[in-house]
Amino acid sequence: MLLAGSLAIGSLAPAVAAQALPSAALAASAAVPGTLAPAAAKRVTQVKTTSNLNMRSGSSTKSRVILTIPKNKTVPVKSQASNGWYQVTYNKKTGWISNKYTKVAKTATTGGASNSAKSVKLWVTPKSTMNIRKGAGTGHAVVGKINKGQPAYATSKAANGWYKISTQGKTGWVSGAYVTTCSKGCAIDAGPYTTNRAGLSDRYFTKSASADLHASVNGKKRIGDIPRNSIVYRDAAWEKKAGPVAGWYYVRTQGADGWMKASALKRSTSAKTSNTSKTTRSKVQKQANGKLPESMLVALSWDKEKTLIAAPAAADLGRLNAAFRKKFGKNLEIDLAYRTLDTQKFLYQELGSYIAAKPGTSNHGWGLAIDVPESYNYSFKGKYYKWLKANSKKYNWIHRKNLEEFRADGSRNPYAEAWHFEYVGK
Ligand SMILES: [Zn+2]
Repeated sequence: MLLAGSLAIGSLAPAVAAQALPSAALAASAAVPGTLAPAAAKRVTQVKTTSNLNMRSGSSTKSRVILTIPKNKTVPVKSQASNGWYQVTYNKKTGWISNKYTKVAKTATTGGASNSAKSVKLWVTPKSTMNIRKGAGTGHAVVGKINKGQPAYATSKAANGWYKISTQGKTGWVSGAYVTTCSKGCAIDAGPYTTNRAGLSDRYFTKSASADLHASVNGKKRIGDIPRNSIVYRDAAWEKKAGPVAGWYYVRTQGADGWMKASALKRSTSAKTSNTSKTTRSKVQKQANGKLPESMLVALSWDKEKTLIAAPAAADLGRLNAAFRKKFGKNLEIDLAYRTLDTQKFLYQELGSYIAAKPGTSNHGWGLAIDVPESYNYSFKGKYYKWLKANSKKYNWIHRKNLEEFRADGSRNPYAEAWHFEYVGK
């Protein structure tokens, strides 16, 4: 069975969250384009101030003050910004007031069965991360978020310009003022090629320009184009859950995720496995975290996914691996090394601050950290962990004391991580 298209669209669902997603997302997003009844949308037409309130030239406290409206005045609303501010008229002047100091005095229905939300079939792509709301206006409850650059399929457009979309198992409305629209699929920014999407399987390059990304295989619903030589990551685990389709891969990119024809992709084997440049650790750390240039990265030669790490750390990691292999007869397994800023932001959003480092601060962002698997042998009680803890420092790779299972006073360390090692060499 194939999943409905809307499951795939925009699902930035990572390996971590993927387990829980398919059935729930499927159930909630069974909406089929064109079948949604236009929903009623309420527009605020009058508000009453709840304190003396500045009217400004724009919808932000940074904008110039035009005048002050006294408390308990009812004023007509011309429009509403996506941050909730109202454009109002008072004393023959028009400007913006914060919605935080107003009460809704009057609303009008702008959509609904008897009104004019018209049916559309197009993609909307937010210019910034946006709230998805229950109705077509900022007065409605937030039911979810859609990320910048993530296309979602729109089925209705309300008279006030809001679109009804379905994405990631959520159906709701987004303001039309902050999206771009395209009817045949939008251009997709697949991001820089030096990404390493955590936990995902193989890295692929797109072979040609205009490689099609689809929301579903069956319906061939097209999300858009991915430029030539973009990196995408195949998510084999997702394919398995969704129901694999011969000749198609489910891929994740920095811009959007979806299905691609396997024939449009070639597996990446081109990443360099040696780098003789004189880059040092301190030079690497002067770069923007999560944005290392290719010249400072190198792929691990023994790793089947050709995971990327910072060039200065590669030789010592190679020596550590050689010693590990001599001891255990197998290569050291690496789940994650270099992580782009984009991926960090994503993980932070998904996993929260307790688990994921604050974006822009992780040593993974400089390719100076590795995570080994979380399997038993690599756990605190496992033989690989014990060996690595005792031996990795000889090769300038350390497991930090603040990640150990227990604290000095014998209590359990809530921040313990057996899998995270950092490079401290030159
Ligand atoms: Zn780590």
